[in-house]
Amino acid sequence: MSISPIEDLKAEIDERIPDLIATRRDLHEHPELAFEEVRTASIVAQRLKALGLEVQTGIAKTGVTGLLRGGAAPENARTIAIRADMDALPIYELNELDYRSQTDDKMHACGHDGHTSIALTVADILSKRKSELKGNVKFIFQPAEERIGGAKPMVEEGALQGIDAIIGLHLISGVPIGQVGVRSGTVFASADSLQFTIKGKGGHAAMPETAIDPVVISAQIITALQTLISREISPFQAAVITIARLQAGTAFNIIPEQVVMDGTMRSYDKDTRAYLLQRITEVAQGIASSMRGSCEVQVIDGCPPCTNDAGMTGVVRQAAIDTVGVENVNESDAVRVSGSDDMAYFLDAVPGCYFIVGSGNSQKETTYPHHHPRFNIDEDALPIAVEVLTRSVFEFFSA
Ligand SMILES: [Zn+2]
Ligand SMILES: [Zn+2]
Repeated sequence: MSISPIEDLKAEIDERIPDLIATRRDLHEHPELAFEEVRTASIVAQRLKALGLEVQTGIAKTGVTGLLRGGAAPENARTIAIRADMDALPIYELNELDYRSQTDDKMHACGHDGHTSIALTVADILSKRKSELKGNVKFIFQPAEERIGGAKPMVEEGALQGIDAIIGLHLISGVPIGQVGVRSGTVFASADSLQFTIKGKGGHAAMPETAIDPVVISAQIITALQTLISREISPFQAAVITIARLQAGTAFNIIPEQVVMDGTMRSYDKDTRAYLLQRITEVAQGIASSMRGSCEVQVIDGCPPCTNDAGMTGVVRQAAIDTVGVENVNESDAVRVSGSDDMAYFLDAVPGCYFIVGSGNSQKETTYPHHHPRFNIDEDALPIAVEVLTRSVFEFFSA
């Protein structure tokens, strides 16, 4: 069942497309890294204030929220939040665009410039339709998604107080333009970075019996960790363990004192994540001690998986069908992303749906992966995202 009280929504979006694109390009030209989104946050705050929203700034350093009170909201009306992230990445942009990054070592290479512009446009449309809103809408602009550091402190500082549900989207270059991915359950993986410090006893490379070789211990640990995935996780579950950095030794003829290795673990559900984190530590420490060494394991910057609520997924799914047609709404496992996103902290706090809007178009060269120096988005994805978010709000309040 479609709500569609908003027959002329497409026209309202069309007339805002020039500004939607101009805002995105302006943000693209002026990328700011995690917790440094000062210019971006001030543009966001000014725009929200001009629309008449109740604006709060400085949440989790550079986060901004804007509350739009519905004109048709009964007492005890519900409030839905729309979340966008604002930060860029430390990457040198290789695109030759009129609106290329003006800062050599910073780039919007994940599409957060698009997310911010999309959410501002939705705020504009909904503020003009305020009298029809049967509840309140809170816009949440978070800092530091890329460092997995912005969402959690925003929740801790009360950004979700009084919020009943939350929605948001990620533009994804690996999904073709025109498609929207909406899936109940996990959509983005958890991400934990792992650091192992393997201690042995240094010595002469030709006299191993006088030493305890941490290099050999770490080799055993790396191999054993892979068997956690292949032997202890069901073939129907997915998880990844990667050891990406190894630091050992100073010369060919010296057994070093210690080896430090860094890696990451990704999974799609909380139980698998908890199980693997425990087993990674047990296996690493067990192997090290059986070989007369020791191993310290540190889990850093852990981010839970993004888990969508079934009810809220239904709301967004209907909005997506009304926007792009059922044939362009993808609900399959293919919608899952093995990257992580700290939208997870918002989704853990209130029921919500994080959906995917395809921005890949080989003719426009926008299929480079996220975080690539040639990453770009097909800007035709922006109005699609605006429409799905706007329709989701009305769908939510119609339920
Ligand atoms: Zn990213
Ligand atoms: Zn991102």
